[in-house]
Amino acid sequence: MFDTLQRPVRDLRISVTDRCNFRCGYCMPKEIFNRNYEFLARDLLLRFEEITRVAGLLIDRGVEKIRLTGGEPLLRVELEKLVAMLAGLGEVDLTLTTNGSLLERKAEALATAGLSRVTVSLDSLDDDVFQAMNDVGFPVDRVLDGIEAAAAAGLGPVKVNAVVKRGVNDHTVVDMARHFQGTGQIVRFIEYMDVGATNGWRLEDVVPAGEIVASIGAELPCEPVQANYAGEVARRYRYLDGSGEFGVIASVTQPFCGACTRLRLSAEGSLYTCLFATEGHDVRQLIRAGGTDEELGAFLDEVWTRRTDRYSEVRSSETAELPKVEMSYIGG
Ligand code: SAM
Ligand code: SF4
Ligand code: SF4
Repeated sequence: MFDTLQRPVRDLRISVTDRCNFRCGYCMPKEIFNRNYEFLARDLLLRFEEITRVAGLLIDRGVEKIRLTGGEPLLRVELEKLVAMLAGLGEVDLTLTTNGSLLERKAEALATAGLSRVTVSLDSLDDDVFQAMNDVGFPVDRVLDGIEAAAAAGLGPVKVNAVVKRGVNDHTVVDMARHFQGTGQIVRFIEYMDVGATNGWRLEDVVPAGEIVASIGAELPCEPVQANYAGEVARRYRYLDGSGEFGVIASVTQPFCGACTRLRLSAEGSLYTCLFATEGHDVRQLIRAGGTDEELGAFLDEVWTRRTDRYSEVRSSETAELPKVEMSYIGG
């Protein structure tokens, strides 16, 4: 199944909740996501059976990788049950992106249920910087404990995502690279993006990936490596002393829409064909109206084959103002 730009559907990102216990300023700023904010009511969330049904139909259409995300996916009660159901669909690479706060407790159960790997978000190893970024005072050590627990449970190699924001944590990038060097865990530095409509994004707050690589390379000699597979979003660099690699995700300065094979399913069951989409396609309504597999399948085919998205290639200060959906809602 191909879209209008001849891109197949390969990756499915499933947001299992729009809630989170962190308030990262670049994603869910406290001023907006406070006690007056209306999160989705429980009955609006797709049930595990509904999620699994949509995932199964998409696997039939070419999906090979599924990533559970959110919001904070480990806040969804009994997430390991969903993991087991999705793992039961057969040959699919099943991963999870988490802020790591509940990972120490859950790693074992997730691995037993059939999760393949985890990605943990951690923006800095400097406690003051990290606590200010998550804005709920959550300490670095507990995320590191979560990473250790995941590796011990067999959910490695753990990838560690760090969003870099100018003047906030850019001075801690090299420390971060050094810390994970030689551990087998792979840190990936992400350019700060204009997702959603609440984070007040400005181009001058983005630290270009080229600058990140140069600052690491000045202290830890490294060279670029081939992508693991076509369409890999992270650009890889390996340390010349053989102590491992790191990556950069240059969504702003080096967009990769041409190879984008990702489809997103929101917590309430809308499909989004781009991280920067302004509207979704409601699959929950169709499911709950008793839609057959044929009807659902035809809907999925239509959504993907009509897809034209290439937001990052046409981004500008005007597009940053568009009424895009929040990342915590459709999943990062
Ligand atoms: N709560 C989980 C977590 O933080 O890992 C999963 C959801 S979160 C939305 C997924 C990823 O999106 C995280 O790695 C986060 O750092 C990244 N992210 C969120 N807002 C971003 C932004 N404005 N620019 C770049 N990455 C962002
Ligand atoms: Fe929560 Fe993840 Fe967004 Fe941070 S990036 S607010 S941890 S959903
Ligand atoms: Fe894919 Fe949209 Fe990101 Fe481009 S901007 S890489 S189409 S999600």
